[in-house]
Amino acid sequence: ATAGDYALEARGLSKSFGSFYAVKDVDLKVRRGTIHALIGPNGAGKTTCFNLLTKTLTPTAGQVIYEGRDITGLRTAQVAKLGLVRSFQISATFPHLTCLENVRVALQSNHGKSFRFWSPLSAIRSLDPRAVELLEQVGLADAAHLQATELSYGKKRALEIATTLALDPKVMLLDEPTAGMGHEDLEPITELIRQVSAGRTILIVEHNLSVVSSLCERITVLQHGELLTEGTYDEVSNNEDVITAYMGG
Ligand code: ADP
Repeated sequence: ATAGDYALEARGLSKSFGSFYAVKDVDLKVRRGTIHALIGPNGAGKTTCFNLLTKTLTPTAGQVIYEGRDITGLRTAQVAKLGLVRSFQISATFPHLTCLENVRVALQSNHGKSFRFWSPLSAIRSLDPRAVELLEQVGLADAAHLQATELSYGKKRALEIATTLALDPKVMLLDEPTAGMGHEDLEPITELIRQVSAGRTILIVEHNLSVVSSLCERITVLQHGELLTEGTYDEVSNNEDVITAYMGG
């Protein structure tokens, strides 16, 4: 693989809080068009890494390279405009808006300057066909007029995917998409992630290793803020250091 094969890279990424390094000298390369997992025990630095990649935190050292471009100095909104978008933030949906309204709001924000709160309703409604399309894509066509708060846990996550897709991401960062999900929701969300990965790159923090093994081509393992290993699921799951780390060693 050459440098041009990677959609997203971290080079020597570090974040310290006082003298404590939450992330230390991490290199990460996410190949374009793949689903890549970031795993590791609690406290390994996964969330901090995501925050650094999407610029909600500024690194102490190192760089974030997106599509070959150093984006280390940019702000979250600028990064999102370039197509690097994080999903599964609690604030991703408005609980008392309907599914359709949620996706419409996301589309409006993506249209940026052309929409303001005083835009005529007809202009805002012009987004509805695309909003309906996105709801259909994530299996929520029948729920278009339900409030987000009325949805099951799994369907809320599907709605968050729809609002993320509204931003037209090239690279999606998914933060524990199956967290707290019942067994019955696992398969549909796994399938949905596989489906939206077509033509995109996905980096996922995921605790469920069977989800990781079924979705992800490459896996990066962190421990104590540092890179432990990187490889295919078979490689990392047979790695002695990984086994020890997961057993609390
Ligand atoms: P993970 O997501 O893998 O569970 P985190 O990135 O949340 O790990 O945390 C890595 C380490 O950094 C933890 O020990 C955590 O307590 C610490 N940490 C995270 N954020 C802060 C902060 N704002 N101030 C101090 N320590 C932090």
